[in-house]
Amino acid sequence: MSDHPKLAEKFASNTNRMKWHDKALWFVRQKRDIQAQSLPEWEALRDKADAIKTHTLANLDHYLSAFETNARKRDIEVHWARDAQEHNKIVLDILRRNGATKLVKSKSMLTEECHLNPFLEENGIDVVDTDLGERIVQLRHEPPSHIVLPAIHLKKEDVGTTFEKFLHTQKGNSDPTYLTHEARKHLREKFLGADAALTGVNFAISETGGIVVCTNEGNADLGASLPKLHIASMGIEKIIPRLKDLSVFTRLLARSATGQPITTYTSHYHSPQHEGEMHIIIVDNGRSQILGNKKYVKSLQCIRCGACLNTCPIYRRSGGYSYGYTIPGPIGSTLGASKAIQKNASLPFACSLCASCSNICPVKVDLHEQLYLHRQDVVDAGLLDKTKHRALKMATWVMKHPMIMDSGGKIARKLVPILPRNLLYSKFNVWGKNRELPPFPKQSFKELYKERKK
Ligand code: SF4
Repeated sequence: MSDHPKLAEKFASNTNRMKWHDKALWFVRQKRDIQAQSLPEWEALRDKADAIKTHTLANLDHYLSAFETNARKRDIEVHWARDAQEHNKIVLDILRRNGATKLVKSKSMLTEECHLNPFLEENGIDVVDTDLGERIVQLRHEPPSHIVLPAIHLKKEDVGTTFEKFLHTQKGNSDPTYLTHEARKHLREKFLGADAALTGVNFAISETGGIVVCTNEGNADLGASLPKLHIASMGIEKIIPRLKDLSVFTRLLARSATGQPITTYTSHYHSPQHEGEMHIIIVDNGRSQILGNKKYVKSLQCIRCGACLNTCPIYRRSGGYSYGYTIPGPIGSTLGASKAIQKNASLPFACSLCASCSNICPVKVDLHEQLYLHRQDVVDAGLLDKTKHRALKMATWVMKHPMIMDSGGKIARKLVPILPRNLLYSKFNVWGKNRELPPFPKQSFKELYKERKK
């Protein structure tokens, strides 16, 4: 069971690291703001994206089957996977059928969700993640800590020592240009020796039967162009109806993700290479369950830009690993809770309900509202921590009795300022763990209000 508060505390215990993590992500959020404000039609674009996604999800069966038909017409093989196991087995079968043992992979959160790498490795396949950030975390045997910036939790010195250990770079050299050149040399060898490439899918176009992959490093393009075998893994929600819908999303995606006007490479794959094979695996893995739930269906609109992570005050201060789920941050918290509430019961509470995530989301996923509803599901399922549940029940009772609330407030305003510090900041004051209580006012709001109304 994931325990966000405990893991967050572990991350936050290194104050310096917490501060630069917070600062680095806020910097990306500010870049996003500059880009969003530079487009007068930004809000109209968000509305359009929301409308397209809402319509697509309501007619998903139609668009998916049209996509399959159109892809087959283009000699692309289409496979359907009910869950992660089926997906992984399909990938392995395709590789085995082609005698492929070396696979280069571009960024794909879906394959992380399916735990594809360890499965393939156990089956004798050499898997190399080719996105630079992904490769860094792969070498360190860590999962990505962010959906767009997988190694954001690491400093350049950490990357230097990782490369020193695995790529035998110069000792103590953590110059980013040097490290990037070394990574490029290392990855080029892997690209040239690969038997097959696996990419994710940013958008699958129902009308054409082709897919679109967005990267900043061109690694998906190199992977899909060198070996003759290309496998693409996509969740059922990646479908958009028409080619002309694409620009709405590409204009929103990069601006929201990294504050760029567009991703460096937006590549269309609409057929296999000459004498090659192209396979698309369409994966459900719990998505149709969310599709059938009105409260949470909008979470399937997500285009994985990561903006909600960058803006979230909790994510920025607790780090991606504190969520204990493949996708961290607000979107991961709602997806995780939808998928397995038992296992991810702490995630809906990793939220201040400030609504910044919902306000920033390019496709208008109602994130904070979903998290608020998930909290109620956690209580209904009897999964809320007993002490917290009792405390909340008591607070509800007090708030329902104004006389008790007023006199309790009066006593607290007099008593708390004179209490000795060690008593006030004891283990029972969880709120005061890393912060000071504000000075107590002389009067309550109610008293002030009555006085001023006279
Ligand atoms: S929920 Fe919205 S903001 Fe968050 S990753 Fe998905 S698209 Fe981006």
